[in-house]
Amino acid sequence: MRDDFSEEVKRTIANRVNNRCSNPDCCVPTSGPQLDPAKSLNIGVAAHVTAASIGGPRYGASLSPQQRKHASNAIWLCQNCAKLVDNDEARFPESLLRRWKQSAEASALNLLGKTAISVDPRLSNLSPEEIEILCAAADKGDIYLFSSNETGSWIAVRPQNFVDQTDPAYAAAYTDALESLQARRLVKYDEGSLYVLTGTGFKLARALKTTSLESSRDQAKTLARSK
Ligand SMILES: [Zn+2]
Repeated sequence: MRDDFSEEVKRTIANRVNNRCSNPDCCVPTSGPQLDPAKSLNIGVAAHVTAASIGGPRYGASLSPQQRKHASNAIWLCQNCAKLVDNDEARFPESLLRRWKQSAEASALNLLGKTAISVDPRLSNLSPEEIEILCAAADKGDIYLFSSNETGSWIAVRPQNFVDQTDPAYAAAYTDALESLQARRLVKYDEGSLYVLTGTGFKLARALKTTSLESSRDQAKTLARSK
């Protein structure tokens, strides 16, 4: 008689760790797309911290069947790691698996709700000008680099012109930002004076726009409450 986990328990513990293997030396994603657009594939396993049946690894005789199939006795692992921990009980005792589970859940919680910028180190340290250009271009993706004899070069994302007639440093900060966005492959040159967002650029720009809208909405709510 095996005390197997219900489908709900499996789904829950997978989601609690962002659908990644909980072995800190592995962390491989355990879900992805199938060729059929209506299906996803899963290479994760809800492994028993203490075994589902007598004679299994780390079996706890004192546990009731209910406790044995409870989510607290499950750890989400990839298929490889699930095999590994069950084949070498001495190297992977219950206490170690509990530590893995705890730290995998803690890091999933830590990443939750963060924007792509804070998660992806390649996208860290975007300047305020870069963020402003991305947000402005989020809908259409068009960014223009104009220049004239009087003003020099400046960036425009219609209907906005990033230029200040009284301060040439202002326009320069945005032309630098465009260069940096190109180096990050978020923007690419199209033709004439036109630059466009790349696929990644669009994704990030829209995520940024949504977060900035949400945070200004939150600020508005906080203000309304404090009145
Ligand atoms: Zn793994």
